[in-house]
This record gives sequence, structure tokens and C-alpha cells, in this order.
Amino acid sequence: MSEEGRARRLGAVPTPIAGESFVSWVDTVAATLRLSRPMALSALGLLGTAGSSAYQFRLSPEELAEVQQRTGLRPVQVERMLLSFYAPTALPQISPHGGRGWRLNQPWLRREHSAACPLCLEASGGRWLLSWRLKWTFLCADHLVYLEDRCPRCDLGLYWRLSAAGADQRTHCTRPVGRSGGRGRRLGARVCGFPVAEIPAAPVEDEEAVHVQRRVSGLLMPADARHNEESSRMLQRLGRLVHDAGSRTTTAGLLDRMENALLRAVHESQGPGQPPLSWILERGSPTAISALVRIAARIALSGNPNIRHPG
Ligand SMILES: [Zn+2]
Ligand SMILES: [Zn+2]
Repeated sequence: MSEEGRARRLGAVPTPIAGESFVSWVDTVAATLRLSRPMALSALGLLGTAGSSAYQFRLSPEELAEVQQRTGLRPVQVERMLLSFYAPTALPQISPHGGRGWRLNQPWLRREHSAACPLCLEASGGRWLLSWRLKWTFLCADHLVYLEDRCPRCDLGLYWRLSAAGADQRTHCTRPVGRSGGRGRRLGARVCGFPVAEIPAAPVEDEEAVHVQRRVSGLLMPADARHNEESSRMLQRLGRLVHDAGSRTTTAGLLDRMENALLRAVHESQGPGQPPLSWILERGSPTAISALVRIAARIALSGNPNIRHPG
């Protein structure tokens, strides 16, 4: 192999933190090496543009080998950061043989943005977790706060995949301000700048919420084949129950014993003339979504062995 042909090992490679997402890690590489996101991707042996989010789903074996050669990370460390990590449980739509242009229609995936625990971001210096990309994750069980997925200043989604600002998103909102005109120039545009670590997060005051999050997080995490199959089935069942709750014309009985912050969030997600819970999964905050998951979990995860779903 010629000297040019041999992939060069990068000088400084930040180690991914536990549970970090690939995009966050790439942006951390970019920040460490003082590169743009496309240049960081290129340094990792990947082709990419600032807006490219394809790599957050899956890497080919050749791409994995390239990243391994340049960073010294083992493939399993890289695969843990990709959404394909959840293919055995929550994201069965990600097949190992799907093409790059594959478009995922998955109501439980935040494909364009991410939720976050501001306190985790503060502690980690801006490392974003993969699990925050799933709407199944609605609170942080370490800090006991509900996740947030919007900037409190500009009300736009956090860690937007198309942001030209790339790496800066790890620490503050980079959405352009004054975008109401619809064709804001990206280059040189002023950005919102709100520090993500300072986003106020609602405290969780309710043990059931934490309990349900822990159970659901356990389902999301792949393990052996039997666990994965049961988890996948249970997540689908929970999804169907959430769907059913969304079509109810009344919330009577559904939100019993849920705390006020949650009832408020549910109320804020209601669309005019629609069943009260029907918009939440698509548009609601993580706090509001937690109500849906809890409604479903009360039926499906009650611990009653007699409750079996019909299949
Ligand atoms: Zn946290
Ligand atoms: Zn903002």
C-alpha cells in the first residue's frame, strides 16, 4: 500500500462517552480537531456534508473498518453509537441490508432533532446520547428531570440535523434567528445561541414515571435473541396501546395520579377539534409523551402475568 493510500491515524481521538450518539461524537471529533463537521467526517474516512445525517443510522462494514483504522475505536464501540444499535428492539425497520437512501418512517424516532437532559449535557460538556433520539426516552433517571426537545428561546427542535453550524450544537442552540422570512441566509446569519445546559427542565416528582422509564429503557437495550424478541413485541404492543389512547375522545381515567407538570404538557399538545391525546406522539414534548407511555405501561407492564397480548 502506498503512503497516500494508507489511512492515517488521527492524532487526537475523543473517546465516546457511554451511550453517546454518532453525530455527537463526530461533532466532538470536529471540535477537538477544530474542523467543520464535513471535514471531521472526511478525517474519519467518511464522505459527508454538513447536513448529512445518513451516518447516524448505519455504517457499512467498509466504513466501520475505515473509522476503526483512523481512530483505533473497535467496531462495537462505533456500532453502539448508531441508530442501527436499536434495530433488534425498537427500530426493526433498520435492516442490515437496507440501502443508504432508506427513509425511516418511525413514529417513535426523532429523526430531525434530539431531546436532551440539560444536566447531563452540562456534566458531559455537550455529549448527546443516542437514546434521546427515541421518543421512548422521556426522562433522565439520573437527574430526575423530564427531557426537553425544544429551545426555550426560539422554540425550535434541539440538535437539528441540517444545521450548518454542526459541532456548536453540542453546547448551544444554533438555529438562525429571524427565520420568519423563510429564506434566511445561513452563512453569517445570527444564531439563537441559547446554552443547552441552561435549558430549564421540569423535575420528575412521580415515582411511577421513573419506574416506567426504567422498564422501557430496559426493553430498548438489546441483549440476547430472546430478550430482543420479547422487547420488540412489547414495544409494539405499547405502541398500539398509545395509538388507541390517541383515538379516545376523552382522557377520563387515563391521566389519573399523574403530576401537574405532565397534565399541563398534555394540555399544551392538544390540537383543535382532535381527540385530546392524538397529537402528542408527533408533536408533544417528552413530558407529554411520558403520559402516553405511562397509559400504555399501566396496561401492558403492570406485572400481571395474566395480561397477555393477543399477538
Ligand atoms: Zn441527566
Ligand atoms: Zn434557540
